[in-house]
This record gives sequence, C-alpha cells and structure tokens, in this order.
Amino acid sequence: MGPDGGSRVDITEIEVRSALSVSRIPGVQYTINPYVGCEHGCRYCYACFMSRYSRHHKDAPWGSFVEAKVNLVDLLARELPRKRKRSTVFLSSVCDPYQPAEERYRLTRGCLELLAAHGWGIEILTRSPLAGRDVDVLRGAAVVSVGFSIPTDNERVRQVLEPNSPTIAQRVEALKEVRESGVSTWVFVAPMLPMDPLRLYAMIHPHVDSVLVDGLNYSFRVKEIFHRNGWGYALSGQYAHRTGRKLLDLFGEKARQVCA
Ligand code: SF4
Repeated sequence: MGPDGGSRVDITEIEVRSALSVSRIPGVQYTINPYVGCEHGCRYCYACFMSRYSRHHKDAPWGSFVEAKVNLVDLLARELPRKRKRSTVFLSSVCDPYQPAEERYRLTRGCLELLAAHGWGIEILTRSPLAGRDVDVLRGAAVVSVGFSIPTDNERVRQVLEPNSPTIAQRVEALKEVRESGVSTWVFVAPMLPMDPLRLYAMIHPHVDSVLVDGLNYSFRVKEIFHRNGWGYALSGQYAHRTGRKLLDLFGEKARQVCA
C-alpha cells in the first residue's frame, strides 16, 4: 500500500528477452526498466501506455499492477561483456526503479552492481527514498547521478496526483542523504504541478547538484482533477512559462529546462 493507504497491487513475475534497451534520451545510450507497470500510479503518468505491452494486465488501470522481470539481472550479466564500449544507462524510463516491489525483488540493485562492476555510467530517476539503500553500490560506479522527481512542494497536491508515491518530505530527506554520501544528485521538477517555487527552491537547493524542469505534457489526463481542486490555472502554458522562469532564476546555473 502507498503512504495514503492505496489499494493492493497485483504483482506478477515475468521473464523477458533482453535487459538493455537503446535510448533516445540525450547523454544516455541505454535504458533498463526492471518492472512493467508502476505502483506509484501518478495520475499524469506518461508511461501508462505500457499497459498495452503487459502480458497479464492489458486492461488493468495504471498503478494497479506490477510485473517484475525476474531474469533481468542474469540477462544483463550476459549482455554487458558483449558490448564493445562502456556506456551510460538510465533507470528508468517507463517505471520507477525503486517502487515498492524493488524492496523484495532487488532487480534494480542487481543491475547497478553489474553496471558498476563493468565501469558503466549510471543515471537514476526515482520518487522513492529506497534509492538510499544502494549508495554503497553507487559510490563504486564510474559516473553516477541520482535524480529525484519532486514536481511540487505541496503535500496535498502530491496526495491527489501521486497517490501511492512517497511524500515530498521523504524525497527531500533521501536527496539529502544520497548527496551527503558523496553521490551526485539532481532533481526533476516535472511536470511543474501547482507549487510555491520559492518554497520548493528552499527545500531542495542545499541538496542538489543540478535541476531539470519541464511542463505538463499530458494535461488532458488530469484536466478534470485540476479543475475539481481549484488548480485549473496550472494547466495553462503561461503557468508553465512563469513557473519555469522563476525556478531557472532561483537555481541559476544549476538549472535548465527541457526543450526550452
Ligand atoms: S513514478 Fe514515474 S513511471 Fe511511476 S507512475 Fe509516477 S510518473 Fe509514472
């Protein structure tokens, strides 16, 4: 269950054919997604199209299922020695690599151990303090950066739009711990949800090396929820522009905007 007591998630174990997927994300050559589905169930999630690729949960609502790729670490152990050059891997593009199932399956950790041992670069993006569990592995990686998605400072906004995800305070605490352990950190303020930019800045700026901001790309999914909660103003392009500008000014050289 999530921090707000969300419903139970159906977890299935699956086997897949490959571990590394070629990436189009600038600066990273591959992605690894240890899970199909994401228990965090963010209402605006861009990755919900992944239900289509699910073998067992084709029509299930996003956030209600997780498929754990139980042979992933063995596959990666075979794939890495076959690659001619060391690259950088992003975990993860269509799930959270530290969603609750990771506590039990340790697939993300297994992949990180292999990537670090082979001298590959690692780029992580998560909403979960569970990332702190793996700093012992991350400290041994050649190039590594751990990012936390923190799209608002407002806990009520988080509860409504990311109902089964860790609280904002938990993420900020984890960000601080990871950075204090000597691992480089970044924060992804995306999508920019209703927020107080100054307060968000004060919460995260002491603990972060860089910040990336982006607007709400799939507003049609959350339009009704925003209006119902009095956040309709945050659906506009002007809101994204104004808030992005404010964050860029506050964070200075640390910050940049996606596709600005
Ligand atoms: S944590 Fe990421 S992948 Fe998971 S539901 Fe939220 S936005 Fe989607």
